[in-house]
Amino acid sequence: MKKVLITGAAGFLGSHLCDRFIKEGYKVIGMDNFITGDSKNVKHLMNHSNFEFIEHDVTNFISIDGELDYILHFASPASPIDYLKIPIQTLKVGSLGTHNLLGVAKEKNARMLIASTSEIYGDPLVHPQTEDYYGNVNTIGPRGVYDEAKRFQESITMAYHRFHGVETRIVRIFNTYGPRMRLNDGRVIPAFMGQALRGEDLTIFGDGSQTRSFCYIDDQVEGIYRLLLSDYVYPVNIGNPHEISISDFAEEIIKLTNTTQKVIYKDLPVNDPMQRQPDISLARKLLGWEPKVQREEGMKITFEYFKNLTKEDLHKSEHKDFTDYIK
Ligand code: NAD
Ligand code: UDP
Repeated sequence: MKKVLITGAAGFLGSHLCDRFIKEGYKVIGMDNFITGDSKNVKHLMNHSNFEFIEHDVTNFISIDGELDYILHFASPASPIDYLKIPIQTLKVGSLGTHNLLGVAKEKNARMLIASTSEIYGDPLVHPQTEDYYGNVNTIGPRGVYDEAKRFQESITMAYHRFHGVETRIVRIFNTYGPRMRLNDGRVIPAFMGQALRGEDLTIFGDGSQTRSFCYIDDQVEGIYRLLLSDYVYPVNIGNPHEISISDFAEEIIKLTNTTQKVIYKDLPVNDPMQRQPDISLARKLLGWEPKVQREEGMKITFEYFKNLTKEDLHKSEHKDFTDYIK
């Protein structure tokens, strides 16, 4: 039986990956320190005989008993509000955390896949973004802590591959959504859906002309799974190329949620990328992968999930402004 270590296991993406690997018959070790995650996301796995959970901060030395075949490093705050609230931890998990895990991969002779991001392209000057684009990142801007941690993460991963011969994979994940996102994480989908459920107006940052391309979680997990098992070591974009402006997206959510609220406009956060769309030609060619779930369908499932959360969860989700965290 193959054994996989998944960091960030109590988070949105990590918990779905745990489910997938359990389903595929792997032994899964989930690791998390709950800084932005929630034990509820893996509660259903806790008594599974092939699942083990270790509460641990990956920026500290990591010790794993026995053999290990794969490591998926998904631990990291991922929402702009999270990484503004905890900037140092964000830099540490991408740098020290990745270094520790590469050390484990080297010792165990395990293959390691890292969760990189479309943010490494910054506010992109090339559109759609192809993997050979180097990006346009402001190192000292508020998003720099995340973007540069992830850029460093890619560099150290390639160094371990080239210098130590560690088998590595790099996925550049574009905006992904679905059940188990945190209602209060400030990302646009939980933000708009939380506002609709609480009867608040939807807050568009800027004039809403900035674009994003949203990928449903099941498609993302499939892409990551295929990349891990492929033999390609360079970065691969995984995301849904169907691009939409944030103002059109707000209208879609108003229709879906049937809210009578309107949109209101707030300042655009500093360095908020104006456009984002993955070029997925490489993933199509290498992995035979492309997204299958239409936004309409994925958004319905996600809204059902948020609707079924308790009143307490909804109350906890009081929406905060991005600007509240920039001093
Ligand atoms: P998330 O916040 O839901 O999950 C991250 C998890 O990592 C949380 O459970 C958190 O507690 C854990 N964590 C953070 N620091 C840790 C540490 N030092 N030690 C142990 N655990 C730690 O976020 P997510 O959306 O699931 O993102 C997961 C990964 O995917 C991140 O690396 C993120 O950068 C990447 N990613 C996500 C998206 C997206 O759209 N969701 C896009 C690009 C990249
Ligand atoms: N956004 C918005 N209102 C909100 C939250 C986000 O208009 O309440 C915008 C945000 O400025 C960005 C887009 O939605 O342009 C996507 O934001 P998110 O935080 O989800 O992801 P990222 O900026 O990291 O792609």
